[in-house]
Amino acid sequence: MTHTKADDLRLIPSVDEVLSTPAVQIIAQQTGARRAVDFVREAVDEMRKEILSANGGHSDHSRDGLLLLVAERVQRIWQERNLTRLRKVINATGVIIHTNLGRAPLSDAAKNAVLEAAGYCNVEYDLSTGKRGKRGERVESLVAELTGAESAIVVNNCAAAAFFILSVFGKGSGVVVSRGELVEIGGDFRVPDVLVQSGSYLKEVGTTNRTKLSDFERAIGENTAMILRVHPSNYRIVGFTETPKLSNLAELAHSKGILLYEDAGSGALIDLTPYGLADEPHISQSIADGADLVSFSGDKLLGGSQAGIIAGRSELIAQLRKHPLYRALRVDKLSYAALEATLESYARGNALTDLPVLKALSMNYEEIEHRAKGFIARLESKLNNGNTLTFDLIDGESVIGGGSAPDVHAKTRLITVRHNSLSADETETRLRQHTIPVISRIVDDMVVIDLRTVDEADEVVIAEALKAL
Ligand SMILES: *Cc1c(COP(=O)(O)O)cnc(C)c1O
Repeated sequence: MTHTKADDLRLIPSVDEVLSTPAVQIIAQQTGARRAVDFVREAVDEMRKEILSANGGHSDHSRDGLLLLVAERVQRIWQERNLTRLRKVINATGVIIHTNLGRAPLSDAAKNAVLEAAGYCNVEYDLSTGKRGKRGERVESLVAELTGAESAIVVNNCAAAAFFILSVFGKGSGVVVSRGELVEIGGDFRVPDVLVQSGSYLKEVGTTNRTKLSDFERAIGENTAMILRVHPSNYRIVGFTETPKLSNLAELAHSKGILLYEDAGSGALIDLTPYGLADEPHISQSIADGADLVSFSGDKLLGGSQAGIIAGRSELIAQLRKHPLYRALRVDKLSYAALEATLESYARGNALTDLPVLKALSMNYEEIEHRAKGFIARLESKLNNGNTLTFDLIDGESVIGGGSAPDVHAKTRLITVRHNSLSADETETRLRQHTIPVISRIVDDMVVIDLRTVDEADEVVIAEALKAL
């Protein structure tokens, strides 16, 4: 007997029937009844369209069979929706400041601080007087202590910091920038565009590769408010290059009665030259060199939460604090909590062991190889997989990421994963769609895992994801 489309359409289960299947009941408990009904309607609709389309997809023509198929669709729809939920992932890419994966992972102390501040907390309350207190007081004094700056203020991110400073001190005036520093930092942050938005005028000087102090000097006129130095974070000009020292720019600015502002981007609070990061501005050096204001990100090399930290002279910081824009750009209590705990690690001298970004950065080749060998040995004894998976070690490079230090490639030891029937792409996808997603890379048609960016406690998650292959 052949089935017509009309026969099949009559077999499609009702929304209530699908809702009462055990699988959909579980989903309804997780997502709420109203959304479960939406998913079921969507699944039933899909089924109806498929039957009506010329090459109707399914071959099961029983009522129970169709019910099962629709319930499976509901599960798939729920899983797809769930992939967009903000959740923990394992960063096995070796990209330390991975912007797509949330940049800097917080230290344990910072995570605990966020949890504690999530309830009521003294963010703007003075416990000694019982009156209104100053927001961010502790973080700001830590920044001052760690950079040697007179004062500090925190806004939403470094882009906001640059916009804020240029708006408050540059509006209606000229801002002098070297042509070698008119950079674009990841998509939406272009120095000339930020200047336009702030209402200041760009006075570009020098050439792409060479700008001299005299170029700056000639450009400074009646209506010049400041010299802007931008750290070209994500690219390098090499070869025949020249740019004035920050201390010389400071001298020039001050002799003309204008400001020197440095957008340091990532910036470093401690000396990172032992790890190859000689080019990143050391914030305390910039302050010592005479920069009036320096801005840097909270979640790049600093290793904390998203923030734009501004350090500099107290009278300028006070002007920023009083400006109406501050209210629009300020950060919330959770950011202060995370930053405070992060900066405390620096103040105690424990940054290299406390902060995941600096731990990853300072891990050397031998340590990573040692961990990788131990990991493979534990995996092989646990998997007992009869050649389904083959692991090897190869040399590779980890990346700093986050638009910092593009020319630094830390040597690493990568674990290669080969599956006897899945392709590299399929393996990568399956790991990515594990209950706790494991994000890996593909090198030479092999999935590779770089333990540099993996917390030791998360190795078991990778082992489980591999086992599930
Ligand atoms: C990264 C960066 C920014 C933007 O910082 P966010 O904190 O991402 O807003 C601005 N300027 C420079 C030089 C940077 O490197």
